[in-house]
Amino acid sequence: MKRLLVIGIDGMDPRLIDRWEGDLPNLASLTAKGSRRVLRSAFPPDSVPSWITIYTGESPVNHGVLESFNYLDKNFKQFRIDEGVFRERTFWDIASRAGKKVCVINPFLAYPPWEVNGCMVSGPVFEGGEAKIFPGDIAARHPLPPLGGIVDFPTRKTLAGFVERTESLTRQLAEFSAGLLGDLEWDLAFVCFLTLDRTQHFLWRFGDPEDPTYPGPTPYEETIKRAYRQFDTVVGDLAAASGSDTGILIVSDHGHGRRCTRVVNFNELMRRRGWLVSKARSRFDHRYLLERAKNATLQFVYDHNLEDWMFRVARFIPNRKALKKSAHIVSWGENLAQASYFAGTNPFGGIEVNRERLKSEGVDYEDFRDTLIREILALEDPDTGKRITRWARRREDVHKGKRLDVYPDVLFEMEEDYGVNWALHTDLVTNNPTHRKISGGHAMEGVFLLSGVDADLQDRQPAVQDIAPTVLDLLGVEFESDVDGRSLLVGTRNQSGAD
Ligand SMILES: [Zn+2]
Repeated sequence: MKRLLVIGIDGMDPRLIDRWEGDLPNLASLTAKGSRRVLRSAFPPDSVPSWITIYTGESPVNHGVLESFNYLDKNFKQFRIDEGVFRERTFWDIASRAGKKVCVINPFLAYPPWEVNGCMVSGPVFEGGEAKIFPGDIAARHPLPPLGGIVDFPTRKTLAGFVERTESLTRQLAEFSAGLLGDLEWDLAFVCFLTLDRTQHFLWRFGDPEDPTYPGPTPYEETIKRAYRQFDTVVGDLAAASGSDTGILIVSDHGHGRRCTRVVNFNELMRRRGWLVSKARSRFDHRYLLERAKNATLQFVYDHNLEDWMFRVARFIPNRKALKKSAHIVSWGENLAQASYFAGTNPFGGIEVNRERLKSEGVDYEDFRDTLIREILALEDPDTGKRITRWARRREDVHKGKRLDVYPDVLFEMEEDYGVNWALHTDLVTNNPTHRKISGGHAMEGVFLLSGVDADLQDRQPAVQDIAPTVLDLLGVEFESDVDGRSLLVGTRNQSGAD
């Protein structure tokens, strides 16, 4: 049996590989010797739920972790999740317990590293600790590079430094990984890169003339393409360090594209239907005036390209979090329905239904959800007449599992141009005032590239929950678990998962 190298590249997008394949010789040759498919991400396609699903084979509706971090939140660096959800339950732990030697480098969220049959090295999700390695004595031969989710939020002025630093972090991790892979003995290696996602979030609009906030030619026109070329080199280097007797699997937790440029103000829709109560009883109510002033300010800032200034002064606004989500003007207890915050300002979203309130008003829950779904499906952009919604369904029609409660009652996905917003007393569809700060956003379609193995793939589309059973199958390790994912290989054993 061959050994297997899994390379995780956060946010790598299949459409961009297609577009630039001629400049990505290593990815092109691996594809020629194997198979590249579009990988379905978790819902919503955020790094945290998706990587945990990749590690465990368990869908978010079963592992129950949907947290996403919001770069626009000043406190995002304090982001923490409980790694106990997947600790010692990942594909490398199962391989390790089956006697395989593993070498695991920079797995997102899996910090501090734990004991495995081999080596595991990782860094903190954001701040609050330094990179650590198990077993500790390896660090003497291989000094640790910066690891984990080291992040800064660039402004236009600090963009050049951000790009340089991000490229350098990728290079340092790649060199360290090539050194370790060449030095240690292993059957399964997993190296995870987090930098490409950030480059795309912050640089998207500089390389996309179709983006309404494209600034014209700048030195950043090709930054994202350069990042893909850098990753192509990284893939080639890691493959070379592993030797020819190694199968290679490349996966991304989700894709990436232009972030929504328009937003749908779902709470305003709920208010107009009489399902959400605004505390502002009249046009002279201070809460009404505050909400209107906020909306007008955000629009002015967007129109005049003042976002960097706005983000500097925003911290002096008292209670700005409540203001941002219009929480100063709505109270949950009085509402029948409101837009969920669970997926941020993205095309993916949901509506929370207040069942107690429905009951007291004598409204049937299922009828009400049907009405909500009809309303969401009927949404059109008043400027273009274009349909906005791809699908809207009851949560249990989208997912089945033990943690259905982590999702809002109704789920939906819109076209890529649209995102969820919470503003009140405004138009139903407005420009996305935060687009210029974060102009790249996640997409449901990620990358799956399997190369250099003697195994045939089934015909179906791979999903993130299939990665763990497939990896173990390739290693000949049985996956005794009732998780959601199934091996993608033809005629093999790790098939037992549910749909
Ligand atoms: Zn991600």
